[in-house]
Amino acid sequence: MIEVRGLSHRYGEALALDSVSISIADGEFVVLAGPNGSGKTTLVRHWNGLLDPDAGEVLVNGLAVEEDLVAARSAIGMVFQNPRDGFVAARVDADVAFGPENLGLAREEIDRRVEEALAAVNLTGRNEDRIETLSGGEQERLAIAGALAMEPDHLVLDEPFTGLDAFARESVLDRLEALSREGTSVVVVTHDLRDVLELADRLVVLSSGRVVRDEPPESVGLEGLGVRPPC
Ligand code: ADP
Ligand code: MG
Repeated sequence: MIEVRGLSHRYGEALALDSVSISIADGEFVVLAGPNGSGKTTLVRHWNGLLDPDAGEVLVNGLAVEEDLVAARSAIGMVFQNPRDGFVAARVDADVAFGPENLGLAREEIDRRVEEALAAVNLTGRNEDRIETLSGGEQERLAIAGALAMEPDHLVLDEPFTGLDAFARESVLDRLEALSREGTSVVVVTHDLRDVLELADRLVVLSSGRVVRDEPPESVGLEGLGVRPPC
C-alpha cells in the first residue's frame, strides 16, 4: 500500500508537485498519465525516497519512506526510464541476481528468484546472453525482471514503452497483463495510453503537479489532458 499525503516538491522556485494526495492499494493496476513536465517522475521518485518532500509525506505499508528507506525500496520495485542506464552487469543472469545478492540471500534462493523473474518476462533460458545483444523490448523486460527479483509489493515503471516498436511494446504489455493477473501490483507511468488503459483498474492524471483525474479508466473525456488516448 502506497499513501501519498499532501506531497509538494520544488526544484528551486519551481513547484513540480502541488499537494498531491493519492493511495494505491495492493493488487491495483494503476496508469499514471499526464503531459510532459506534469510531475509524474517526480512523484514516483518520492515513493522510494530518491527525493525528499518539501511538504507532506509518503507512507509505504504504513511506514514513512524517510524513516525506513530500506523497507520502502524493498516494497517498491522501480523500473526507470531508459533501463539501459540501470544495468549493472554484462550478462542477463548476473544483472537479475544483483539485487537479491545485495539482500544477502542464500545462493539457492537467488537462483530461484532469477529463474522466476526471467520466466515472468518470457526470458527463460536467456541467462547467459550478453545484455548488449538483447533487443529494446527484451532489455525493457530484463529491467522488469531485475525489479521482480526483489519480490516487491508494487512494480512501478516510468515510461516503459519509450523507444519500443509496436512488437516490443506488445511483448511488454503482455507481460504486465500476466503479472497483474497473477497478483502483482503495477503502476505504469506513461503519456501514451494505447492498449494500457484496458489493463488498468484506475487512471490517475497529473497536470502541472496536481491530480486532475483519479477514477476508473474510460476511453472518453481525455481531451485536453495532453495524453494520447487509446485507439
Ligand atoms: P514528467 O515525468 O511528468 O515529465 P517531471 O517530474 O520529470 O515530469 O518534471 C516535473 C517538473 O519539474 C517539470 O517542470 C520539470 O522541468 C521539472 N524538473 C524535473 N526534474 C528537475 C530537476 N532535476 N531540476 C529542475 N527541475 C526539474
Ligand atoms: Mg517523466
